[in-house]
Amino acid sequence: MNSVEISGFIPKLGLVVVGIVLVECTRQGLNYLQRKNSKPVIRQVIFFPDKQIACKDFFDSVEGCSRIRCDFSHTTTGFRQLLSHIKSARKSIDIAVYCISCFEIADVVLQRHKVGVGRP
Ligand SMILES: [Zn+2]
Repeated sequence: MNSVEISGFIPKLGLVVVGIVLVECTRQGLNYLQRKNSKPVIRQVIFFPDKQIACKDFFDSVEGCSRIRCDFSHTTTGFRQLLSHIKSARKSIDIAVYCISCFEIADVVLQRHKVGVGRP
């Protein structure tokens, strides 16, 4: 490239860079608007099985656990987090399973369905 070609190339390169910056700004702006207008989505990986089974009385009853020496966990487990997320659903719940064999999960899903979660 001679100096004449270089002097024409640099403005074109600048134009391409400005174009890339504008595209990126537009993309970031659209992502921001999409996030701003979207409903909160829970994205969390929960590992199973838990080391200990959660105490149902401790988490679900108003009185709490009345056992003096409880063998179950009084700290949040992955299973309790899953139930809590399902219970917090206000609009819809996406579930991809063949069969729900856990009564606690089935009960919580049915409870949310009865209050209108997932209905149009
Ligand atoms: Zn307990």
